[in-house]
Amino acid sequence: MQARLVNEPFGDPGLYLDLLFGRRAVLFDLGDLGPLSPRELLRVTDVFVSHRHMDHFVGFDRLLRLRLNRPGVIRMVGPPGLVGGIRAKLDAYAWNLLGEGSPDLTVLAAEFADDRLGPWTAFRARDAFRPSPAGDAGLEPGLVLAEDDLQVEAATLDHGLPCLAFALQERARVNVRVDGLERLGLAVGPWLNAAKSAVRRGAPDDLAVDTGGGPPMRLGDLRAAAFQVAPGQRLAYVTDAAMTPANAAAIRRLARDAHHLFIEAVFLGEDEAIARDRLHHTAARAGELAREAGARRITVFHHSPRYLDRPDLLRAEAEAAFRGGVGP
Ligand SMILES: [Zn+2]
Repeated sequence: MQARLVNEPFGDPGLYLDLLFGRRAVLFDLGDLGPLSPRELLRVTDVFVSHRHMDHFVGFDRLLRLRLNRPGVIRMVGPPGLVGGIRAKLDAYAWNLLGEGSPDLTVLAAEFADDRLGPWTAFRARDAFRPSPAGDAGLEPGLVLAEDDLQVEAATLDHGLPCLAFALQERARVNVRVDGLERLGLAVGPWLNAAKSAVRRGAPDDLAVDTGGGPPMRLGDLRAAAFQVAPGQRLAYVTDAAMTPANAAAIRRLARDAHHLFIEAVFLGEDEAIARDRLHHTAARAGELAREAGARRITVFHHSPRYLDRPDLLRAEAEAAFRGGVGP
């Protein structure tokens, strides 16, 4: 997967993540989407909105404008108020020309609260974007997306209002070594899918595996001889959070062992009083949290315009804190 900030670090926050070699993408936050091409926006299947401050939500219109005349589904997850916010945006336009013959675009929206994703609300173009209930998400606590290959976790942070942070976790990748299978006297077949998925979900070594007509095998033996397991990537997106102990704990949890943490660095450590007043993080604190979480790489964004004349300072402060604990 390939992740990049939508804007430069002084611009609106947002992260674009290409999955499956560009056939699909997910977006974290909907600020200014100007730098994304129509092609890129057409690939977006899922949008994770941290909160509805304008710099994180104004891009909804551009996404909708591009997708309006094409069938498809856009799933949107955000904090309480998201569904009402989408409804208000859709209500701003006249949709009298939409009807049963219109391209079948659906926006599905659900809110994350009390550690759970609530029910989906559908806004269908063919229904002039009137909201209708669209079923329960049915996800485990803490999850906002769960698929075969990846899941997205969420945590609620305090930014004077509930603000969501996210972590995308790829599941372990299991590759089959055909030479290993041959040594075990096993043939390639559909039975491998069940065995691979057992490895991905961490099933015990002594699990008996049906090998599709071959001799039954212990999962542990099969894994050792014929599977190559690569751990999945973990990527975290954290923005707009006050520097409170509860937020720090939640951020460390989400960013634990992340391959890449994208985190806000709005003010310099020397301006910590302002950061506390505005409910944001300093660059130094962002770097410290990344280090404490065991993240391998950090990218900072959401810089305050007050540092425009010293554009590299926030990144440098965050990097220094990340590497060596040079905090304020
Ligand atoms: Zn913001």
